[in-house]
Amino acid sequence: MKIYEYQAKEIFKKNGIPVPINQLTENGLDAERATENINKSVVLKSQVLVGGRGKLGGIKFADNPYDAHKRTDELLKLKIKGEQVDKILVEEKLDIESEFYLSVIMDRSVRKPLIIASTEGGVDIEEIARETPEKLVKYYVNSLEEFLPYQARDIAIEIGVPKHLISKTGIIIWNLFNLFQKYDATIAEINPLALTPQGLIAADAKLDIDDDALYRQSELMNKGSVKKDEFAYVELDGDIAVIGNGAGLTLSGMDMLKLYRGEAATFLDIGGGASKENIARALDIVISNPKVKVVFLNVLGGITRADDVANGVISVLKRAERKVPLVIRLTGTNEEEGQRILNESGISFETSMEAAASKAVELSSKL
Ligand code: GDP
Ligand code: MN
Repeated sequence: MKIYEYQAKEIFKKNGIPVPINQLTENGLDAERATENINKSVVLKSQVLVGGRGKLGGIKFADNPYDAHKRTDELLKLKIKGEQVDKILVEEKLDIESEFYLSVIMDRSVRKPLIIASTEGGVDIEEIARETPEKLVKYYVNSLEEFLPYQARDIAIEIGVPKHLISKTGIIIWNLFNLFQKYDATIAEINPLALTPQGLIAADAKLDIDDDALYRQSELMNKGSVKKDEFAYVELDGDIAVIGNGAGLTLSGMDMLKLYRGEAATFLDIGGGASKENIARALDIVISNPKVKVVFLNVLGGITRADDVANGVISVLKRAERKVPLVIRLTGTNEEEGQRILNESGISFETSMEAAASKAVELSSKL
């Protein structure tokens, strides 16, 4: 999921990355007032989700409130790569001495976050890679270890920022990496990171969030999405995730595991009338927990229909990045239909809790 520059900048600011003074507006008059408030020359920035709007006329400068009003009216008529402009971010115009490039992306091919930095910012990263590849520094972060501030400073040194800026650039790199992780981002980018008389400021900001992680990014989610406390969820010390519909059933599942000498990694009660979407979210939560080796899904169809459970399971398994063996105990309302759906997709299930629990323990002991 892409978010707008103004939203990314709010997040950057909250997480220790300086951004220009700004105000979001939706019409010329608002922009005029915002410029009065800011009380200097401003930059008017079209808020669109597509990239490269500067080159496409989506950014204008204004020296006074009247000018800002007029230019904003012009921008609001613009379509950028098919996207209608309807919000303008009015920002103090920075006095830019030089422009750096900084980003953190998830490199899926090696499953590690990659920090990319350069003192040749402002232009596209592809252009930097083509024209001055020697000025591009790439640094893979080992996701199993903590990324430390001195490592961020090393990157600053390697790209060759002036000595007096090493520590400040290091902090920005470190903060950018931490927010990348905190917000489950796939890309966090500052281009340009502007060197101004006031110091380093993120003149532009880009943040894409991993769609599969949205369930745990409640701050970013719109209304209608899940709240985290919708489920009763407890993390435990074992390696088998226990999911059930109803607290009693979930607890019985845990007891049954114990009986076969298994240890639960989670207690997750999805509640009585759980929908297909809730089942899918519950599975996402436990699968993203690295301690979980096996999932034991214990569902008694009542209000929750077995076919919904089956469909929820299938939707997650199709897109799950981490393959975790799943043992399903599925009975109750629409059980034939639910079991048929699982059978068709080659997912095995049990109808008794005992059989499912012992199978889960057996699987976990082999991993
Ligand atoms: P993009 O085209 O979507 O990447 O938009 P940016 O926000 O990165 O702006 C494009 C370019 O406009 C930047 O690389 C800067 O060169 C310039 N720019 C943006 N904000 C300012 C500013 O406050 N002052 C000055 N002087 N230039 C700016
Ligand atoms: Mn930019």
